[in-house]
Amino acid sequence: MTARLLDGTALAHARRSKLVTRVAKLHSCGMIPRLGVVLPSRDDAALSYFRAKVRAAEKLGIEVESSVMDAPTTQQIVDCIQAWSEDEAISGIIVETPLPEGIDMQTIREALPASKDVDGAGIESLGRLLSGKPSFVAATAEAALVLAETAGSVAGKHAVIIGRSLVVGRPLALLLLERDATVTVCHSKTQDLSGIAQQAELLFVAMGRAGFVTAGMVQPGAIVIDVGTNIVEGKLVGDVDARAVESVAAALSPVPGGVGPLTTTILLEHVVQAAEAAVG
Ligand code: NAP
Repeated sequence: MTARLLDGTALAHARRSKLVTRVAKLHSCGMIPRLGVVLPSRDDAALSYFRAKVRAAEKLGIEVESSVMDAPTTQQIVDCIQAWSEDEAISGIIVETPLPEGIDMQTIREALPASKDVDGAGIESLGRLLSGKPSFVAATAEAALVLAETAGSVAGKHAVIIGRSLVVGRPLALLLLERDATVTVCHSKTQDLSGIAQQAELLFVAMGRAGFVTAGMVQPGAIVIDVGTNIVEGKLVGDVDARAVESVAAALSPVPGGVGPLTTTILLEHVVQAAEAAVG
């Protein structure tokens, strides 16, 4: 079997062309969707994620305002979020990660207002997702689900997620439950990870461990979504050993070109949605 490649770049492209129309409509009402990005460090990874968002946003007519901070305190980040929360010109707010040492993410989550929390990182957004009435959901988790659904309905399927972070694994588990999948979430303390992964009809991998998932961990015919992004010898690679797994899986999302480009597009869709809600 050679796995069908789930092309996140093509899907992102198709979704962006629909966004162009929505942004043009907002512009015609005098509303420019604007994303406020808090950059709490000059970390290389955070800066490169930020630049990628700016490039994608500008092509669509979405503006990006940034607050770059050197060694900020938690309170300084919260102050910025609060100022942007009250600023009608800002449609959505994100705090770029990784955060520097000593920053209290919980306090930041509490400060993020649901109406502008376009990456679903705030307490209120997470609570709404848990209660089955989501507002904005973490764009990466949503992208992983959207990509999996291009291979068919997830309802009734056994989905195994490796990784339980609030950015990917946990929100994805809740999204899958809402779609009637049966969900198992694994993490670093899981016993017999390989045996559990082999039971998955849908396998989502979000660990940050390059090439960790090998062919022997995958059920023949499974759908495999690789969320991982790792730099190995200067190249971007996923958490799945793609060359080996593509001979076992029915479908596989590549890295690069899978979840990543779709994540950026979904984040920008959320910004436009927030701007549309503000216009009323
Ligand atoms: P994270 O916060 O570091 O979480 C990693 C998760 O993997 C944790 O739950 C951890 O378990 C689990 N894990 C690590 N090693 C394991 C092992 N040997 N066996 C089983 N579980 C293990 O990372 P994250 O923020 O969720 O990101 C995960 C990956 O997705 C990273 O490669 C990241 O770069 C990528 N990512 C991609 C995008 C995108 O747009 N494409 C966006 C966000 C993240 P514990 O909880 O027990 O520690």
